[in-house]
Amino acid sequence: MRRVLRAAIAAVTLTGAGTVAAGTPAHAALPGWGRPTVTAAVPQPGAPGLGDTYFPDYGNGGYDVEHYDVRLRYDPDTDRLTGTTTILARATQDLSRFNLDFLLEVESVRVNGWAATTSTEGAHELVVTPSRTITRGQQLTIVVRYAGVPSETLVDGYTGWTRTDDGALAVNEPESAWWWFPSNDHPLDKATFDVSVSVPTGVEVISNGVQPRPPLAEAGNRTRWSWRTTSPTATYLAFMAIGQYDIVTDTAPNGQPVVNAYSTSLGELAPAARASIERTAEIVEWESTVFGPYPFEAQGGVAGPVDGITFALETQTRPVYGPGFWRRGSNTSVVVHENAHQWFGDSVSVARWQDIWLNEGFASYAEWLWSEEQGEGTAQELFDFTYASYPEDSPFWQVRPGDPGPTRVFDDAVYDRGAMTLHQLRLAVGDDAFFAILPAWTAAHRHGNGTIAEFQALAEQISGLDLDDFFTTWLFTAGRPDVSGSAARKAAPPVEPKSWAKIREAHRLLAH
Ligand SMILES: [Zn+2]
Repeated sequence: MRRVLRAAIAAVTLTGAGTVAAGTPAHAALPGWGRPTVTAAVPQPGAPGLGDTYFPDYGNGGYDVEHYDVRLRYDPDTDRLTGTTTILARATQDLSRFNLDFLLEVESVRVNGWAATTSTEGAHELVVTPSRTITRGQQLTIVVRYAGVPSETLVDGYTGWTRTDDGALAVNEPESAWWWFPSNDHPLDKATFDVSVSVPTGVEVISNGVQPRPPLAEAGNRTRWSWRTTSPTATYLAFMAIGQYDIVTDTAPNGQPVVNAYSTSLGELAPAARASIERTAEIVEWESTVFGPYPFEAQGGVAGPVDGITFALETQTRPVYGPGFWRRGSNTSVVVHENAHQWFGDSVSVARWQDIWLNEGFASYAEWLWSEEQGEGTAQELFDFTYASYPEDSPFWQVRPGDPGPTRVFDDAVYDRGAMTLHQLRLAVGDDAFFAILPAWTAAHRHGNGTIAEFQALAEQISGLDLDDFFTTWLFTAGRPDVSGSAARKAAPPVEPKSWAKIREAHRLLAH
């Protein structure tokens, strides 16, 4: 997936966060960071961020969300969104106030039934001051009523919301939630979701998980669509696609519901989209044999409209794809990539955005494994061709996948060098260990978070090898790593694997 928002945002929000945090140590409010409360605690403000090394003010401290109930009304003609989000959370410290990440205009906030006062800080911080102080461990029911026009709600000239001819897409990474529901917007705080949207009858709404009930007719020629996801979900992986869609439902070989949706705007691209996305259940079944049990309760895909997003995103249980992937025919590489993220990114999420290689390197290497499985080029052939396609003096080799920097989170190197890293790891530890490490990783951190350091430790434990030099070279050192062991292959230019063009096409749209 690709990130559109730039470092300018991080710079702006940092300034704001400094204001919010005045007098508060940056990490004092974080679970695990704060001192134990041994003396009578004076309630403190929740931290305005979770201390992410790349995006310090993303997410908030002082509470942990368990569930979001997002109840909306949307009108495609005006792009006006009104709604009430009810957040079920638990305080992780004594709180005098806390922040939510949100941009739309807030009409009211109540905490456990009592009216709270609000103010805004920085670029995306909603500061909520309850009328009663909150004690550590307390259950919180936070009800936020709001309205706005998301496509016109800009941060540094930017919106992560995509308005289209017939609706909208709430699909982006890492900034997406700010434009449609108030949240603790960081993968460290996952929660379950109920999303319910009232739209004019004839408009479709697709979101994560399953439909707990069929669309329900409402007064005023409107229809309410309801979706539910019962697995912990990172805020950026919750999504909505609103517009004119053909919806195809089925049952996967593992018994799970499959919901695919195709924008009616796709026209001549629709068959290629279907020939790709309708293979989701087959691809998920194959990926389950390599990565471990599929971590979620439903499957599917959404082929977005021609005037929507240009990338694809691994939205949980149901990736959303831009139209570009189908321009030259079907493309199963991107379906493999986005569904591999269900394990690598969605179930096992980054604990900090710097570790994005854990998402993109693995999803990209999944494409190579699929190519190998389909007989369209082995992972070794794809390694050789990819390695040779970037000359030694290419700037590509200067980006370190393990620490690409906040403006290069979705750089080509995170994808291509990321996949090359996994192939070299496979060669270093052998196939038996490599294909034991992958499911062990997804099992150990299922529905949680992971770091590169934790992955290295697991790989070392399973392989019995010291891999410190290996990871330092491939993930954390600028420059093209030497693969002189493959010297024989350098004698002749590598032959282009059959799968290369589609993989290249997918990465051209995904990486940036
Ligand atoms: Zn990806």
